[in-house]
Amino acid sequence: MCVNSGDMMSARIHKEKNRVNAPFLGCIADDFTGATDLAGVLVLNGMRAIVTFDPQCVQRPIYADAVVVALKSRSIPAKEAVAMSVTALRWLHSLGCRQFFFKYCSTFDSTPKGNIGPVTEALMEELDTDFTIACPAFPANNRTIYNGYLFVNRTLLEESGMRSHPLNPMTDSSLVRLLQAQAKRKVGLIAYPTVQEGVASIASAISEARRQRISLAIVDAISETHLSDIATACQDLPLITGASGIAMGIPKLLQSQGVLKTDLDASRLPDVPGLSAIISGSCSEATLRQVVWAEQHMPTFHLDPSQALRGSNLGRDVERWASSAMGKGPVLISSTARVDSVRKVQKKLGVEKAGKLVEDLLADIAKRLVDLGVRKLILAGGETSGAVLQMLRVHSLQIGPQIDPGVHWAASIGNPRLLLALKSGNFGGDHMFTEAWGAIKKASSSGHKV
Ligand code: ADP
Repeated sequence: MCVNSGDMMSARIHKEKNRVNAPFLGCIADDFTGATDLAGVLVLNGMRAIVTFDPQCVQRPIYADAVVVALKSRSIPAKEAVAMSVTALRWLHSLGCRQFFFKYCSTFDSTPKGNIGPVTEALMEELDTDFTIACPAFPANNRTIYNGYLFVNRTLLEESGMRSHPLNPMTDSSLVRLLQAQAKRKVGLIAYPTVQEGVASIASAISEARRQRISLAIVDAISETHLSDIATACQDLPLITGASGIAMGIPKLLQSQGVLKTDLDASRLPDVPGLSAIISGSCSEATLRQVVWAEQHMPTFHLDPSQALRGSNLGRDVERWASSAMGKGPVLISSTARVDSVRKVQKKLGVEKAGKLVEDLLADIAKRLVDLGVRKLILAGGETSGAVLQMLRVHSLQIGPQIDPGVHWAASIGNPRLLLALKSGNFGGDHMFTEAWGAIKKASSSGHKV
């Protein structure tokens, strides 16, 4: 169910003079964290970006430069992935977007039966275009492409940890071969020497590829200059595909063309008064360190899931505790535990049921906290974040300032307005839970109202 009563207000306060009303870039991401990652990259480079998990809930007009539809289409049957992606594209098209971006992982998580080829071809069909590029390079994260081969941390993809990925094991590093195995159209390569020569050479390689009836070109890239030259050479393509890296060049290009303003901070979020809390359900190493640091600096409630198994109403207990603990600053509610304690619960219930039990508990706690007046919430854990967003009926997020690489503050669109930071597993520095608040304080103390 959509909660939209705040959307019109949100639309009004997001309106800024002299900015384009229709979003320029319409993006489709094949997973949730990929969607927020892409939006974060766009925001950092000067584009206001919104991520939506449920386009049907989004009211128009939308005041953003880029809209990212977050799908969960990476590892599902290709037919379903195609149908979802085409529906998303039609919706983005109806918003007035002028260029489209299909975002997948920089490690090209996709076996020969995978979805990148079929989805790309379906989007091309829908946009009636004969050519696009595939460029998952992200040099800042050590994902580079050379002669069509994908390297992860200077190692061939097939020799990296991705070789034994549980869902999409990558045993070939040749992107031309991988994509050709998935696609009906002809796949080619725009190789390093051309890319190194710059925009004009890349543009003429695209024309040449079209003459040779190549429809999909893998493009080599080992530096950010390459990515920005590729984005410039592709400015007239209706569709670009790749990882977040290739999207980095788009905002700068639009700024140089005057389509985007350069003097506005795309990461500004509204000032949202209210209480602050952290809910942590991640058991990753980085989160364990973050919790150890935070519990020395703020009131902390450690949840023991085995108590819930014994019938305790932990949600109510946390609510009572939080209502007196919250006045002075952020509080932490954490189920984060080391492997041995997690295994104990998993042994009793099975892995899936144990995960669900804790996710449901944390989602219930989030709802209680919001009812108590919490409006700024850090959520640690990918699955945890998903469960909480669903419980709070958050359908869309406006992406704001970066806290740490890959972690941004975001404002929910709808009612009540919340500021949320979603941190998956190993992201964020050890002091993130105490330092993250500075990024939103800065925005509000500067008096910005977006
Ligand atoms: P991450 O991003 O670090 O993988 P997730 O939230 O995606 O974090 O996954 C953590 C999983 O572990 C969730 O399903 C969560 O409910 C579960 N979990 C959290 N704490 C405990 C615990 N103490 N015992 C058992 N399972 C837990």
